[in-house]
Amino acid sequence: MEEVKKGKLYIVATPIGNLEDITLRAIQVLKNVDLIAAEDTRHTLKLLNHLEITKPLISYHRHNEEIKTEVLMEKLLKGQNIALVSDAGTPGICDPGEVVIQKCIKENVEIIPIPGACAMINALISSGISTKEFTFLGFLPLNKKARKEKLKEIEISKKTIILYEAPHKLTNTLEDLKDILGNRSIVLARELTKIHEEFIRGNIQDILVKTENLKGEMVLIIEGNQEEEKKSFEDLTLEEHYQFYEKQGLEKKEIIKKIAKDRGLSKNEVYQQFL
Ligand code: SAM
Repeated sequence: MEEVKKGKLYIVATPIGNLEDITLRAIQVLKNVDLIAAEDTRHTLKLLNHLEITKPLISYHRHNEEIKTEVLMEKLLKGQNIALVSDAGTPGICDPGEVVIQKCIKENVEIIPIPGACAMINALISSGISTKEFTFLGFLPLNKKARKEKLKEIEISKKTIILYEAPHKLTNTLEDLKDILGNRSIVLARELTKIHEEFIRGNIQDILVKTENLKGEMVLIIEGNQEEEKKSFEDLTLEEHYQFYEKQGLEKKEIIKKIAKDRGLSKNEVYQQFL
């Protein structure tokens, strides 16, 4: 007997605000699949209406992931092609997806990612904080012990840290961060791709003051722990010190500011020494 050809699971990124941020390939896939599995079908329906796509939808969210995985697998194994979308951005990134993807791997069902918007990547690339190495921690846990452990991880990490946060929890999170990080540089990226998109840059204390009652969706980008490097700055010549920051992609003005801070000099003194 001829074996039934299995369907494919497409993991389709959708916009994180601006509806124009969807790729041509994503639109084609949404048009061509048999079924769309969506975190919130009403939410996805708005996007599909905007794109003038009519397609059957099935809900697939955190609380029904296990059961719905069974339903989706049955359809995939019978040959249906399915697109998985979340409410915003890339499925699986702080969004459902993992369970059905793992099951597909077990059952030899092909998985095809369709790249697109992701809040953390866009916040990171616009932050000005090092993109060389980074750790994405999603939302900080609310459980006290787990939260403390994550905060410790952030404190010692030399890599840039990326966090998602809800507006009503922001002040609390910034207070916790301030307690362990002192006044480390952070960037708050808010309402990315939307009308009120903004980047609030500064140290934690600045951000705390500037973000009281702040609304909207937000990402926090936290500079990695630079302490060890700073201790050895005294051993560097001024030029080496300059190159150290230049390699991180910083602008001249910012470099002079950082050198002044590292060496306990005024910016003017640093300029004078360069001259
Ligand atoms: N899957 C999504 C992605 O690819 O980024 C993330 C989904 S997660 C449930 C939602 C969180 O992502 C929000 O609380 C916020 O931290 C972040 N986020 C989503 N859209 C955003 C936007 N337009 N601007 C800033 N942050 C956003």
